[in-house]
Amino acid sequence: MAQILDGKRVRDEILGELQPRIAALPRRPGLAVVLVGGDPASEVYVNTKVKTCASLGLVSQKIIRPESTTTAELLAILDELNADDSIDAILVQMPLPGHIDARQVLQAIDPEKDVDGFHPVNVGRLSIGLPGSRPCTPNGVMQLLRRSGIEVAGKRAVVVGRSDIVGKPMAMLLLHAHATVTICHSRTVDLAAECQRAEILVGAIGRPAFLTAEHIRPGAVVIDVGINRLTERSEVAAIWRNDPQSLAEFDEKGRMLVGDVHPLDVSALASAWTPVPGGVGPLTIAMLMSNTVEAAERHQGC
Ligand code: NDP
Repeated sequence: MAQILDGKRVRDEILGELQPRIAALPRRPGLAVVLVGGDPASEVYVNTKVKTCASLGLVSQKIIRPESTTTAELLAILDELNADDSIDAILVQMPLPGHIDARQVLQAIDPEKDVDGFHPVNVGRLSIGLPGSRPCTPNGVMQLLRRSGIEVAGKRAVVVGRSDIVGKPMAMLLLHAHATVTICHSRTVDLAAECQRAEILVGAIGRPAFLTAEHIRPGAVVIDVGINRLTERSEVAAIWRNDPQSLAEFDEKGRMLVGDVHPLDVSALASAWTPVPGGVGPLTIAMLMSNTVEAAERHQGC
C-alpha cells in the first residue's frame, strides 16, 4: 500500500514546535510582507501568511502598494524595513509587476531578514552549507521526507525544474542530504529515461499532470511541488479519465487543483507520494514561519 505523505500533519508538527521558541523570545517576531499590484492569487497567499502569523502570535505588517509602484519606491520601502528594529523578517511577494527589477529588489533585502532565502548571500550559504534562510518550498520538502521516515542518503534523486526558488535549491538540499542528484529541465533529452532512474522524483515544472507513468519508476518516492488550477471540465475529464467523482467535484467548485505529476499514475506506481492539495503546499507556509522565528532568534540575540 503506497504511503501518502501528509503535508498538513507535518505542517502542524512544525508549527507546534515553534510555539515554545516564540514564547522564549524577548519580543514577538515581526514579519513584513510586501505586496505590489492586485494579483488575486498573490493576495490569497499574502492573506494566508498573515493569518498564520496571527495564529502563532507573530506580528505581521502587510504593506500593499499599487501596480504603478516603481523599483526605486520599492527599494525605499525595503530600506526602511531593513532599518526597522521591530521587523525581524521581510518577504516580497512574487511575482512583481514586469516593470520592477525583481533581482535588484531581492538583493536589497538585508540577508539576515530575508525569510525566503532568495538573497545571493543566502543562496551562497546554502551552496556551501552555512546556516542561513533556506527557500521555504524545497526546505519544506526536506522536512516532509525526514519526518515521514524516508531515507535520502545514497538515493538517486531526479529534480525536474531548475528555477531559483524551487528546482535549484531543492537539488542542493538533496545533495547536502547525500542523494545522487540529477536536475532536468526543458532542454533535457529523454526526460522519461532520466526520471525512470529516480528513487526520489521531484516535479517542479508548472504543467498540469505532466509527469506520467512513463516517468515514474515503480516504487519511487514522488514529490509533487506543482500547483496548477484547472478551469476546463475537459481537462479534468482527460486527467482523471472521466472519473465521475472528480468530475462531480469540478462541477461543484468550477475549478480543480492538480500537481505536475499525474494523480492516478502516481498513486498506482509510487511507494510514497504527495497529494495535491495537501502535500507540499502546507509545508511552504510552515517553513516561512520557521524562517521568521529563526530570523527573530538571530536578530534578538537568542
Ligand atoms: P518555473 O516556471 O520558474 O520553472 C519551471 C521549470 O520547469 C523550469 O526550470 C523549466 O525548464 C522546467 N520545465 C518546463 N517545461 C518543461 C518540460 N517540458 N520538461 C522538463 N522541464 C520543463 O516554476 P517554479 O519553479 O516557480 O514552480 C514550479 C511549480 O511549482 C509550479 O507549478 C508552481 O506553481 C509550483 N510551486 C509550488 C509551491 C508550493 O508551495 N507548493 C511554491 C512554489 C512553486 P527551463 O528552465 O529549461 O525553462
